[in-house]
Amino acid sequence: MGPISFDNSYARLPAQFYTRQSATPVSEPGLIRVNHALAASLGIAEGWLETAEGIASIAGNHTPEGAEPLAAVYAGHQFGSYNPQLGDGRALLLGEVLDRQGKRFDIQLKGSGPTPYSRGGDGRSPLGPVLREYLVSEAMHALGVPTTRALAAVSTGEPVMRDSVLPGAVLARVAASHIRIGSFQFFAARKDSEALQCLVDYCLQRHYPEQVGRENPALALLQSVIRAQASLVSRWQLLGFIHGVMNTDNMLICGETIDYGPCAFMDAFDPGKVFSSIDRGGRYAYRNQPGIAHWNLAVLAQALLPLLHSDQEQAVALAQDAVDTFPTLFEAAHLQGLADKLGLAEVGAEDKPLVDELFELMAAANSDFTLTFRRLYDHANEPEHQVGEWFELPDSLLPWLARWRKRLAADFLTAQTREQRMRQANPALIPRNHKVEEAIRAAEDEGDFSPFHGLLEQLASPFDIDASSSAYLLPPRPEEEVRRTFCGT
Ligand code: AMP
Ligand code: MG
Repeated sequence: MGPISFDNSYARLPAQFYTRQSATPVSEPGLIRVNHALAASLGIAEGWLETAEGIASIAGNHTPEGAEPLAAVYAGHQFGSYNPQLGDGRALLLGEVLDRQGKRFDIQLKGSGPTPYSRGGDGRSPLGPVLREYLVSEAMHALGVPTTRALAAVSTGEPVMRDSVLPGAVLARVAASHIRIGSFQFFAARKDSEALQCLVDYCLQRHYPEQVGRENPALALLQSVIRAQASLVSRWQLLGFIHGVMNTDNMLICGETIDYGPCAFMDAFDPGKVFSSIDRGGRYAYRNQPGIAHWNLAVLAQALLPLLHSDQEQAVALAQDAVDTFPTLFEAAHLQGLADKLGLAEVGAEDKPLVDELFELMAAANSDFTLTFRRLYDHANEPEHQVGEWFELPDSLLPWLARWRKRLAADFLTAQTREQRMRQANPALIPRNHKVEEAIRAAEDEGDFSPFHGLLEQLASPFDIDASSSAYLLPPRPEEEVRRTFCGT
């Protein structure tokens, strides 16, 4: 048996789901980082990823035993326009593994060379976006948000031509699966109901096994994805995370966050915040994310129509009813999350003015999203280490603070439950965009990866602070602020 125990269920699906394809070797593979804990949980032989063979396997110079590399096909709406032919253009699914709990995961290489779906692209990834994805996806995991993860990163020793010449890299990414809304769109557009049905059954088995056997599998899948995405996007909103490129090919059926291209966490609260350099109209601005998720789920429903019911009118009615549940599901998840952030058992209708006013005051004062909430945690719980050492609430929030304290006093959460919930809901550390950029600049410009490693280590425990945290938890000074991020394609 090889160092990775592959069991490749996707490769056993019919041939129209993918193209088998090997990675394109690179001239000089070099290890950047291995995620040891993740490797161990996936049963990968200890230390192997750091051997020459392991590094060569991530770089694409070697195919590990049992891998069956393939490029998956999909379609998708990109910034609202339908693109009938996308697919893994610079990624390959190496295969799948089962973790210690028996849960199935994809291991994918990103930046591994061209495939039939590259559309003229080089199939490569510059170092910067690989480091950004590594940092932000692992931070999201530590924050408790469902996400794809980073298993390892290697440098290729080859230049990548973009606006400038950049060093190349490959990321090994782990996901519950890489099946997207766009995967369904691809077969729906070709009126291939058999493939659609096959994909529905496959996704139910793999991601929502408790739904297997439901009378209407396509409806069960649609409802499950709607629930998962309502929960996921509420988590983004509650953390000030801006995905930046919520195209339907970047929304996973399993409900994990994927595609850390132009993403960023906001510093000062601004509901209209946009980071992505290509999002000129602000389609994927912070405040639009729940609405866009809703829209994307309607696209999934539309793709599933032929399976929902043989009568088209009834199919549309079923789809509409399912999609219509999204705003309520989102709202419920979001309100519970807000209650946790504010230390309340729940946010009732009578609390809405209090909550709305907080966000209005934060926006007016450009108050830091993360630290404002973390400071509320300090105020309610008086922990040993407080962000108050470095950050204070704006004065304009003081009357609000008094009202909130009164509301807290009337709430029935025990002190211990409140402390636990508020702590988990109000991280001190997020991957600040200027720190991410700083780590990328040091690596790209000077070959110095220590800021990258240092940042990753801090982000692994986002709820804890000590004296060493200040450099990571503070918002950028004006001259450090990063206004735009690039998807690095
Ligand atoms: P993304 O914006 O990363 O979601 O990419 C959108 C689509 O373009 C996906 O199908 C990618 O595989 C493909 N793509 C992005 N960058 C490249 C590249 N450098 N070469 C080939 N395909 C790419
Ligand atoms: Mg993508």
